[in-house]
Amino acid sequence: MTSVSAANADCLFCKIVAGQLPADVVASTERVVAFRDIDPKAPVHVLVVPKEHHGDVAVLAAADPGLLAEVVALADRVAGDLADGQFRLIFNSGPHAGQSVFHVHGHVISGARLGWTPA
Ligand code: IMP
Repeated sequence: MTSVSAANADCLFCKIVAGQLPADVVASTERVVAFRDIDPKAPVHVLVVPKEHHGDVAVLAAADPGLLAEVVALADRVAGDLADGQFRLIFNSGPHAGQSVFHVHGHVISGARLGWTPA
């Protein structure tokens, strides 16, 4: 687990949430925003991000499990709005797992029949 904080001035996704950097927003709620990944790996590849800064999914689950449930609910809504409602939701947690932005985000992967072998 990485650190928890309310906001992080150096965080890319905090800047997107604050409107300081552009993003292709596809859905949002009071506490969660969904925007298209800049380097999509599937026909639908959207990042679902709590507006509050938490380092990774385990930190978020410990700090605010209800907010994690809101992230999952928005992922489901996005997959229904942009594809057929079926989706893979991936939380890379830690650099060895592929995490490069240390503000928790779920990758919603959808819009195609998906293969399986992440490694
Ligand atoms: P991670 O590697 O699991 O941390 O995922 C970070 C994701 O953020 C990658 O899939 C990147 O393509 C994506 N990304 C990086 N910068 C931006 C941006 O400015 N807008 C949208 N997606 C971004």
